[in-house]
Amino acid sequence: MNYFSTRNDKGAFSAAQAMAMGLAPDGGLFVPETIPTVTLDELKALCAMDYRARAVNIMQRFLADFSKEELEGFVKNAYADNFDHPDVAPLRFTDEHTAFLELWHGPTCAFKDMALQMLPYLLTASLKKAGEARQVCILVATSGDTGKAALEGFADVPGTKIFVFYPSGGVSAIQRLQMVTQRGDNVGVCAVKGNFDDAQTGVKRIFGDADFAAELSGRGYFLSSANSINWGRLLPQVVYYFSAYCDFVNHGGLKAGEELVFCVPTGNFGNILAGWFASRMGLPVKRFVCASNANDVLTEFIHTGVYNKNRPFHLTISPSMDILVSSNLERLLYMLCGDEKTRGFMAQLSADGCYDVGETVRAQIGEQFYASCCDDTATKARIAEMWNTKHYLIDTHTAVAADAIAHYRAETGDETPAVVVSTASPFKFAADVCAALDLACGDDPLSALSDFCAIPVPKPLSGLDQRAVRFDGVTDKAEMRAVVDGFLR
Ligand SMILES: *Cc1c(COP(=O)(O)O)cnc(C)c1O
Repeated sequence: MNYFSTRNDKGAFSAAQAMAMGLAPDGGLFVPETIPTVTLDELKALCAMDYRARAVNIMQRFLADFSKEELEGFVKNAYADNFDHPDVAPLRFTDEHTAFLELWHGPTCAFKDMALQMLPYLLTASLKKAGEARQVCILVATSGDTGKAALEGFADVPGTKIFVFYPSGGVSAIQRLQMVTQRGDNVGVCAVKGNFDDAQTGVKRIFGDADFAAELSGRGYFLSSANSINWGRLLPQVVYYFSAYCDFVNHGGLKAGEELVFCVPTGNFGNILAGWFASRMGLPVKRFVCASNANDVLTEFIHTGVYNKNRPFHLTISPSMDILVSSNLERLLYMLCGDEKTRGFMAQLSADGCYDVGETVRAQIGEQFYASCCDDTATKARIAEMWNTKHYLIDTHTAVAADAIAHYRAETGDETPAVVVSTASPFKFAADVCAALDLACGDDPLSALSDFCAIPVPKPLSGLDQRAVRFDGVTDKAEMRAVVDGFLR
């Protein structure tokens, strides 16, 4: 199976090449040439497997240049006791037809671990297969969770370096501490004055800088991405949609072959797109509910077909979704419209900050996706409601999804069983969760929340404030290239 760029479907790349490069040479994103199908019998067989076996089974279908034994080795290391739950990605039922898919049992307490504990294995193997002699430097722009998860995944991985930019003031206190105290000899972290889109645009500009690439190449380095623009980030995320479906069936709430609704708190459109790929493979999904916070660019797009990033940027209590340019939407556009139209939309986006996909495509998208958004007040109200009525503690991002699924059910009357994708541990956003519950938490929200709910603080988050700060740099947008240059000297 080969991979193409979303902006040019002529050149073909192997899976290993696509993952090693991250972004296609023309600035597009890599997509598989065909989507493998999973039959109903195969789906039933998946239901009898554990998470690791499901991961090998699904990923192998997309990775023709990797053997089953190789993938088994990766999976054994990526999903081991670095996760604090034996099921890796457990379902938690709040009633008979609603379950939360907990994707935050990994080492950084957010769903990014599902892919970023796997990516270093995929990437280093890809570099070998692609005959790459230079050292890779992973460059990351983060809205908070990707940065830490990527640092944790790549720390001290031989043959790699990793550098992370985060928006100063755009991440939670815990997220910042997690990053600036990161261990490892091959890691670097720096704040950027601006918001996430500034950081992401700066990183994209560095990737597109041919002179810089040539210069780094002379020094034995090349740049690659661990953001969800890398196919190696997206693929491991396809797995947990199958896994959640199987666990729902095994729980007894669903017969294999019946449809589920998935509700996903969305920022860069990576997580929800992985689910969409699963549905294209044959997973029975009725609809995806795309949940946004006050940054409602995707809600408007799904309702109108117009993507318009010219709007105020809101800092919210769900910072990992504070995004105006959802990079992975480009993959959906390619799958629905082809490379030529996608190229046009992306050119309009960079020239005017806006494009219109037209009525036919809008209608197609609307059939498969429902969209809803909510502000911080509604987010907090959902956290309180879930705790008070279900005794279930959710984080601020998951609460945005809890709000969206309620709106979906009320507006459509659809009673199809649903999985709400839970993307972070509530402890990772403890201060805002405390506020939602009207808890006075002083300067120790983790302990306050733990005492109140009688749930222990997850190990990776306790004692963070006692660790030494290693990275206190702050840079202007314009200086990001110089910062990377310095890191690689
Ligand atoms: C990254 C993130 C999201 C958004 O996921 P996308 O793949 O960017 O849509 C939602 N919630 C949390 C906690 C995250 O870290």
